[in-house]
Amino acid sequence: MVVKPKIRGFICTTAHPEGCAENVKRQINFIQSKPKFNCKKNILIIGCSTGYGLASRITCAFGGDSSTLGVMFEHPATSKRTATSGWYNTAAFEKMAMSHNLYAKTINGDAFSQKIKDQVINVIKSDLGKVDMVIYSLAAPRRTMPDSTKVSSVLKTVDKDYTNKTINLNNNTLSKVTIPCANEQEIENTIKVMGGEDWKNWIISLKKADAITDDAITVAYSYVGPEITFPIYAEGTIGMAKNHLLKTANEITNSMGGIKAYISVNKALVTQSSAAIPIVPLYITILYKVMKERGVHEGCIEQMYRLFGEKFGSNLNFDEKGRIRLDDYEMKIDIQQKVLDVWKTINNDNIKELTDIDGYWEEFYKMFGFNFPNIDYDKDVNIEVNVPSID
Ligand code: NAD
Repeated sequence: MVVKPKIRGFICTTAHPEGCAENVKRQINFIQSKPKFNCKKNILIIGCSTGYGLASRITCAFGGDSSTLGVMFEHPATSKRTATSGWYNTAAFEKMAMSHNLYAKTINGDAFSQKIKDQVINVIKSDLGKVDMVIYSLAAPRRTMPDSTKVSSVLKTVDKDYTNKTINLNNNTLSKVTIPCANEQEIENTIKVMGGEDWKNWIISLKKADAITDDAITVAYSYVGPEITFPIYAEGTIGMAKNHLLKTANEITNSMGGIKAYISVNKALVTQSSAAIPIVPLYITILYKVMKERGVHEGCIEQMYRLFGEKFGSNLNFDEKGRIRLDDYEMKIDIQQKVLDVWKTINNDNIKELTDIDGYWEEFYKMFGFNFPNIDYDKDVNIEVNVPSID
C-alpha cells in the first residue's frame, strides 16, 4: 500500500511503517552518540510506544543496556488500514533491540486492567525475575474501572471559564477559544484517569507478586508550564490529576518498603497527547522558536537522556515540591519573557514569522513516520508489520 498522511484535527489516522522505524532509529542513534550510563537492569515501561515512554525505553535500553518490558495500547494493521504509529515504533524498537542482544518484550492491552497487570507479572516472573524500575508514562483519554464502568478525562478549567488565543491546527490560523469549567464529577474522573491511582495499583500488584525489587525506583511524568496555560493545564482538570500523581509518589515512597517514587516535570513537546490540549500547541510553536534560537531546544529523546543518563546518574536534585525538573530550560526567565512578549503580539499576519509553526508540523508528521527525506513515500510498503514478541 502507498501510505500518505491523513490528518483529522489534531491526529493523523495513518502511520508509515518505514518512517516510524526511521524515527526510532534516529532516537537510537542519538543515544548511541552519547556516553553510556549506569541504569537499572530490568525495566517495566507503562506507555512505552510513543512520546516520552518510547524515548525512556530507547534511552535505558541503548544507553544503559537495560532489559525492557513495555505495555502499550496500540492497533496492528488490517488489510485496509495501517497500524498505529506506536505499533510500528514498537516493532522497530524490538527488532533493533534484538539485533543488539537486548531483551525487549511488549504487552498490548489496557494497562488499567488487572488482566494486563497479571500478564505482565507472569512475563516478569518467567523472564526477568523482578523489575528494578517502573516508568509510568501513560497518557489516556479514558479508563475502564474494575466494575466495567468507563470514566473519561476532560481538559477543562476548574473554577471559571478561560478565554485565550489558540491555534486551529486544521488551517494554522489563530482564534479565541473559551475553555469551559468542569463540574465535580469531571474533575474526579480526570483524576481517576490521569492521577496516581493506577500507578500505585501497579506497584502494589508487582510487590504482592514479589516481582519488584525492594530498592526499585519508579518515575511518572508531569508538566507545569507558564501562567498563560495555568487555567487549562497546571490549575485545570489535568493539573488536579498531576497533583494527585505527586501525592501518590509520596504515598508509594512512604508505604512500599524501600521503593522510591519520583515525579519528573518534563518539557512541553509535540506528542499525540499534547496536540489535543487547547492553547498548549500555540504555546509550543512559540516556545520551539525561542528555544531553537537560543540553542536549547530538546525533543523527547534529549529530555530522557538527561533524566536517565544524567539526573539519575549523579545529578538528582529536586524543586520545593520534591519533583525533578527537566523543564528547567523551558522555564528560564528570559525564555518565558520572550514567549510572553510574542504571545501578546501574535496575530494571523505574523504567525509564520513569530512562531515555529513549520517545526511543529515537522515533528507532528514525524510522529506518524512522515516527512523523512530518506523515505520514498510514493513506494508501496507492507503495512502488516509484526511486533516480534506479540506475533
Ligand atoms: P503519548 O500519547 O505519546 O503516549 C501515551 C502512551 O500511553 C502510549 O504508549 C500509549 O500506547 C499508552 N497508552 C494509552 N492508553 C493506554 C492504556 N489504556 N493502556 C496501555 N497503554 C496506554 O503521550 P506523552 O505526551 O508521551 O505523555 C506521557 C506522559 O508524559 C503523560 O503523563 C504526560 O502528561 C506527560 N508529559 C507530557 C508532556 C508533553 O508535552 N507531551 C510534557 C510533560 C509531561
